[in-house]
Amino acid sequence: MIDEEKPTGLHCPGCGKRMFKTVDSRPVHGGQRRRRVCVSCGLRVITLETIIRTAQPAPGRLKARQVNQ
Ligand SMILES: [Zn+2]
Repeated sequence: MIDEEKPTGLHCPGCGKRMFKTVDSRPVHGGQRRRRVCVSCGLRVITLETIIRTAQPAPGRLKARQVNQ
């Protein structure tokens, strides 16, 4: 899907708004690379989305959930 009009959470370095639209998305090693264009001022940026850490659910939480069920 290349049609995202919702705010992405990124602030545009050019105008400060959060109106980036993704125009291209491709997987790269360890993440996802996206070309975005600011709908407001037209600035083009490239972002890299990557997992920096994974975590197992805390054992205490799992236990609490089992008790509740
Ligand atoms: Zn902008």
